[in-house]
Amino acid sequence: MEDKNYLIMAASTTHMLSLDKSLRQNGIVTDMVPAPPEYGTVCAIAIKIFGKDLACAESLIKEVKIPIRGIYEQKVYALQGLLKRVGANVLSAEFLNALKKVERGDELVLSEIISLLSAKTEEEKRILFTAADRMRSEMVGDRVDIRGAIEFSNYCDKNCTYCGIRRGNRQLKRYRMSLTEILDVAAEIRRLGMNTVILQSGEDGTFTKEVIVSILRAIKGETGLRITLSIGERHFEEYKAFKDAGANNFLLKIETTNRELFKALHPDDDFDYRLKCSEWLKELGYLNGSGNIIGLPGQTIADIAADIMFFKQMGINMIGIGPFMPANGTPLEGHPVGDIDMTLKAVAVTRLVCKNVYIPATTALVSAHPDGQVMALKSGANTIMLVNTPAHYRRNYAIYGNKCPVDLTVAIDAIMEAGRKLPKFLESQEEGQVAHDIS
Ligand code: SF4
Repeated sequence: MEDKNYLIMAASTTHMLSLDKSLRQNGIVTDMVPAPPEYGTVCAIAIKIFGKDLACAESLIKEVKIPIRGIYEQKVYALQGLLKRVGANVLSAEFLNALKKVERGDELVLSEIISLLSAKTEEEKRILFTAADRMRSEMVGDRVDIRGAIEFSNYCDKNCTYCGIRRGNRQLKRYRMSLTEILDVAAEIRRLGMNTVILQSGEDGTFTKEVIVSILRAIKGETGLRITLSIGERHFEEYKAFKDAGANNFLLKIETTNRELFKALHPDDDFDYRLKCSEWLKELGYLNGSGNIIGLPGQTIADIAADIMFFKQMGINMIGIGPFMPANGTPLEGHPVGDIDMTLKAVAVTRLVCKNVYIPATTALVSAHPDGQVMALKSGANTIMLVNTPAHYRRNYAIYGNKCPVDLTVAIDAIMEAGRKLPKFLESQEEGQVAHDIS
């Protein structure tokens, strides 16, 4: 028992957070980890403890009377046979050692994550992507989830140096969608059969707490869709009001965990406040989204590895990883597109480290490379986000240049080419009918 690890599944996110706090206060070392599929839905989070602390944790749970769903021995997700047909001489020693740990189902430390991200040869990359694809299949299955996004305002009060809709960009035609326009698109997303809508915008103060709450209530009332918000940093009370009004998920990307780099890229932001927002979202019971950009100026492999460790340690449920894409009218306009290989390696290693999470094949990847989404789906990704913003607004949501308009046809093509299963809502429809519906 001593050499095993255990997972505590609390009755709710709030219970989990307060139990985690109690355990730590009593000297028990804990880790928040994505719950494996057999213990909960995708995105459930568990508290991991060491076997030596089990008896102590059990008596503490009784004492503090925090309801739990159960305590389970942590199953080891080994990828047996992973290295069977690979000649050890074609892999670097560090890379091979890290992969052996993956094969045994052991947790990786930072230096091993760096070794995997440093895969150089075609054989190293092939085996890394194969491992991630197997882990994805075991953890979240073969079906690809599709979600629809409405980019409802391209106004932003901030001036991030890489972002095309930063307030200083005068080349952009600005727009805000009305409630009626937003509801029309949400209804269309529902009609197509999707379950989740993503409401995304710049940090636009015109959309006050009250306005966002009224949008959330209207969408919930009229469509019943699950709602992901992606509207940036807010105050705790606002996040709480949005949750109370029906928001389910929140996407707030960290972009980079290198504090210096974060500061250089975000003149209006404070790294600690961004972290605080992410903690609040978790505390409030949102499924918590984050992500990073690959290819930022001065970014190192160690920075990317630290980002992946952050996703794991924060118990992030949805992780968007895209290559840097230069945007017109920004200080980084001339910076090169992020490396596709490194982006795919980051997707793969994130899957191996974070396991039971949503990882999108990002729009940035397909914008950077025509096969970007297919390659991501074969390297650990399991969701695709459509851009459902009306065409006359869409071109002005130019967070970066050459943004690919991912619609249902593009998504279906990528899923089929990757040899994966369509989402359930598309299974009963003929492909031709879908293409007709969205034209
Ligand atoms: Fe605004 Fe977000 Fe762009 Fe920064 S990254 S300028 S906060 S939309």
